[in-house]
Amino acid sequence: MTNHLAEVGRGSLRCSLCEEPAVTLVRYAKLRLCRKHFAEFVRRRVIKTIERYRLIKSGWKVLVAVSGGKDSSALLHILSEVSRQLNFEVVAVHIDLGIGEYSRKAREVVEKLCGILGVQLVVLDLKDLIGASLPELVTRSRRPACSVCGLVKRYLINSAALELGANAIALGHHMDDLLPYVVKNFITQDLGGIGKLGPGTESEEGLIGRVRPLYEISEREVALYAYVQGLPVVESSCPYTVRGGSIEEEVRRFLNSLEEGSPGIKIAFARALAKNLDFYKSRLLGQVGRCRYCGTPTSAEVCAFCRLTERGLGKPMGPAVRAKIREIVERGVKGFSKAVKNDRASSHKPGE
Ligand SMILES: [Zn+2]
Ligand SMILES: [Zn+2]
Repeated sequence: MTNHLAEVGRGSLRCSLCEEPAVTLVRYAKLRLCRKHFAEFVRRRVIKTIERYRLIKSGWKVLVAVSGGKDSSALLHILSEVSRQLNFEVVAVHIDLGIGEYSRKAREVVEKLCGILGVQLVVLDLKDLIGASLPELVTRSRRPACSVCGLVKRYLINSAALELGANAIALGHHMDDLLPYVVKNFITQDLGGIGKLGPGTESEEGLIGRVRPLYEISEREVALYAYVQGLPVVESSCPYTVRGGSIEEEVRRFLNSLEEGSPGIKIAFARALAKNLDFYKSRLLGQVGRCRYCGTPTSAEVCAFCRLTERGLGKPMGPAVRAKIREIVERGVKGFSKAVKNDRASSHKPGE
């Protein structure tokens, strides 16, 4: 975080809104902000994003997918802070992929954060669900780790959302995750691919809509938010992550250099894209059918998860996984309401 502090002149400058030292300069808003006012600024912008794109409605149950990284941890913190004002309920889901020490740490961090926030957490252990950890599934299916991981997470999170009766799945993607892929897909003219990179998708039968409340927040702002709030996060990145040399990363650097000279240009890009999203979505192949095994909407006869597990483990695991998640969710909901009741009872001292 030293670069944030260096930018505002080593604490010599005050917050634009109070007497505290500034921790950052938000150039597009022409504001220097202290810790407290920066966190408020981010939360207010997330509320505006939710309202602008109608991402979450009053009375909804929102399932937040939390990996243990700073992005989704910041998202969970922000949503749990603003949920009362916007009147929605927050539940967290974490997938334990069984990637050695990395997964152990990630799970620990997520359990700690949910404990602090008093948010119900559903942990899905991949090994328990399908009898294989992610590294085992990658070896057996002979497919690239990141595509197996993405596919497995999407399927499990959607299943959890269905079983929990959630209205939306909230993802920690910020604009520096999304915009580079928009440019990359434009270069390859994968216009349907651009249609998936907007602030949200609608729910359909068997597929819960996904929302991105950090759509107008930058990577740097998310990191600073997690830092000023002191959120527990895993510092190490996934051992499968390949860093450097990708087109997305080149584009990310390019967009950030544009932002230097024209503060606010990334937000303008994100908003302009959102206006034309229907056009890009119309270029997507529709989910014409349902998976023969598990009923999930798919453009093929068998959904990607059932295909992957059939190939790697000899059996399409969709139906078995759905049944196990149903059990876990039922158990979890009972356990959680009891825990919350006890907590509330013990925090009320007699005479209060
Ligand atoms: Zn301040
Ligand atoms: Zn299936």
